Amino acid sequence: MTTVVTDNCLKCRFTECVTSCPVSAFRAGPEMLYIDSETCIDCGACVPKCPVQAIYEDLDLPEDMLQWIDINASEAKLWPKITAKDVPLEGALDRKQSLGF
Ligand code: SF4
Ligand code: SF4
Repeated sequence: MTTVVTDNCLKCRFTECVTSCPVSAFRAGPEMLYIDSETCIDCGACVPKCPVQAIYEDLDLPEDMLQWIDINASEAKLWPKITAKDVPLEGALDRKQSLGF
């Protein structure tokens, strides 16, 4: 079991989630974050922190979002750890509103 970041995080990167992680499992891709499944201990602490509901426990993923398990596993290997809150990407607030949050 692991926890994954999904496409609501795209072009957002508010990064409220990263400081809640006790094991530094978040990785910072250029347009969104990913969770390293080999590091994540599935504590669930990050799930309620995301203001756009981008983070799911893998068992809670809707069927049409299951691809995000593999995407997180592969992308997390490519990008550096992120453990401190960062500046949101440009347009992040508009994106958040367009998602209905
Ligand atoms: S809080 Fe949510 S949208 Fe922001 S970086 Fe974390 S997962 Fe992405
Ligand atoms: S579920 Fe826990 S260990 Fe996994 S990424 Fe979220 S905060 Fe970190």
